[in-house]
Amino acid sequence: MLVTMKEILDKANAGWYGVPAPNVGGEREARAAIEAAEELNSPMILDVSYNAHPDLVFLGSYLTRLADQSTVPVAVNLDHGGHASIAQLRDPITALRAGFSSIMVDRSMFPFEENLRMVAEIVPIAHAVGVSVEAELGHVGEGANADATSVLTDPSEALEYIERTGVDCLAVSIGSAHGAYAKNIIPKIDFDRLHELKKVTNQFPLVMHGGSGTGDENIRRACQEGINKVNLCNELLQAAANRLKEADLTGNGAYALFDILIAGWKDRLMFQIENMGAAGKAWATGPKGVRTDVQTTMAE
Ligand SMILES: [Zn+2]
Repeated sequence: MLVTMKEILDKANAGWYGVPAPNVGGEREARAAIEAAEELNSPMILDVSYNAHPDLVFLGSYLTRLADQSTVPVAVNLDHGGHASIAQLRDPITALRAGFSSIMVDRSMFPFEENLRMVAEIVPIAHAVGVSVEAELGHVGEGANADATSVLTDPSEALEYIERTGVDCLAVSIGSAHGAYAKNIIPKIDFDRLHELKKVTNQFPLVMHGGSGTGDENIRRACQEGINKVNLCNELLQAAANRLKEADLTGNGAYALFDILIAGWKDRLMFQIENMGAAGKAWATGPKGVRTDVQTTMAE
């Protein structure tokens, strides 16, 4: 069932576990992610990079349909929400139109007040149509040069940011970085900062970006100690590539190409569902979008 990310993360927050958010670019990964969640009875968040597909409305139409057909709660989230440029509202608004149940509005490249103002503008629009919003405070950089581009989240700013923007969850920068890490180094996660962030926000749902390559033990501990969503892309693709290296694709073996890739991708995701503590955490979902406060009438 398609649900908002807020529903998934409020429960994960109360239960001190994390839910994986794999980047999906199309139907194959989406189906594999949902199958993985169903096999482990876990909630699932399909993260869609704003530049993963040339037509977000088309992508949204079938991702939300796949989510709706699932027996476990599935959110469809726009990851990062496009570059803040002249078209800064284009991608989040397109995602709303496409039926996504959650959007990220990442303005973490701007100073505090500007970031806050831009996110606060979009939150009421999303909430009006039942869509949850993720934003980022501090800045998660790129793995190859994380030290140069990352800005760790300042706990003293977090509560004010949450209250004034009205967001439903907050991506924080505590030592992870996007993409592969330089020389495959396992990063040092600032657990003290995570504890402080969880405390000063009165236990608010927190998100880790750049989960790939961050270390299985780091991810497991981060989810036990306050992270509720972990974005994954690179390590799932690496797992797919590794599975392919072991395969024999000669002759008619080539027919199995996509199945082999997806099997490697899905197995790694299933590991992370368990590692983050999300296995067994799915719940029964009811019908959505039915207003019980409206008395319907017909008149001519
Ligand atoms: Zn990210």
